[in-house]
Amino acid sequence: MSSPSQTTQLIDRFGRTVDYLRVSITDRCDFRCVYCMSEEMTFLPRAQILTLEEIHFISQAFAELGVKKIRITGGEPLVRKGVLELFQKIGKIDSLDELVLTTNGSKLQELAESLKQAGVKRINISLDTLDAVKFKQITRTGDLNKVLKGIRQAKKVGFERIKLNAVILKNRNHLEVVDLVKFAIDNAIDISFIEEMPLGVIDSHKREEVYYSSDLIKSDLEKQFELKSTLDKTGGPSVYWNVTGTETRVGFISPHSANFCSTCNRVRLTAEGRLLLCLGNEHSVDLKRVIRANPGDMEKLKRVIIESMKIKPEKHEFNLNEQPIILRHMSATGG
Ligand code: SAM
Ligand code: SF4
Repeated sequence: MSSPSQTTQLIDRFGRTVDYLRVSITDRCDFRCVYCMSEEMTFLPRAQILTLEEIHFISQAFAELGVKKIRITGGEPLVRKGVLELFQKIGKIDSLDELVLTTNGSKLQELAESLKQAGVKRINISLDTLDAVKFKQITRTGDLNKVLKGIRQAKKVGFERIKLNAVILKNRNHLEVVDLVKFAIDNAIDISFIEEMPLGVIDSHKREEVYYSSDLIKSDLEKQFELKSTLDKTGGPSVYWNVTGTETRVGFISPHSANFCSTCNRVRLTAEGRLLLCLGNEHSVDLKRVIRANPGDMEKLKRVIIESMKIKPEKHEFNLNEQPIILRHMSATGG
């Protein structure tokens, strides 16, 4: 086995370089979005989730192994106590190019300024509708107004880039896509539309009944806007189109209709410290066990991470018509 100090890059069996880590820092959330969670959820006990120190230690190991981008996500990352200190510490890791965040926006009004100061450059904010009633129906507990204030504040403090993420479900919010793009244009921000993935058991709908493909969304948009293809990549699975005459790019994340696995460059750390090699498979390594059995042993941790590349699957296989084979929810996984 190669020594970690000689290896600066993580490369899997299919020749893909992994340089992007997504970290779920909590499985908890102040929302209960219908595609992500059931109404009643049992969350992990505190002792089972990684401490902020452990998250920082693992992030450091990945940075030493060539990871350039870390996304903090969840659950809702901004509900975790001490989250700002975590951002400040990870923001100081020299070799990282980017520290980014995915949030539901509910706490952004208070935290945007401090996040920017901690070194967060880009943020993704989830927004599935601009209709307050539908917003409540989709998030179950969310307040649209708070999120809109959060978006305004994020714009004001001047992140390099802000992107909205919208999961589109037929008959719930598929008629909203034009309004969402207009909102993105008015605010000079980007937006990605995401096809719902069958992760975890949910209780509000059958996933196959609400499937609304990226192609349908795109043709809905093309009735109103001219979309020009771009080669832009932001390190994730989105394929981007520019809305002619505007600064806004529209992205499509299409796990069903356009498999993006061949260019996969990322792995995920779950809230309980499992390194998950693929969103749509269960191949994982328990990094929490490794660091708790070998406190402070960075070389050991790096060796385990390098070895884990051998089990990164080639691709995900999602089937909307079957019971979910992936029982973990997106919130525990780190979307
Ligand atoms: N709470 C934060 C938020 O909502 O942005 C971060 C975590 S959330 C799990 C990350 C992203 O995953 C969100 O954009 C959300 O819309 C998306 N998501 C959640 N469940 C999903 C599912 N089943 N299929 C596709 N996207 C999903
Ligand atoms: Fe919470 Fe984000 Fe899941 Fe919605 S998508 S329930 S905001 S973790």
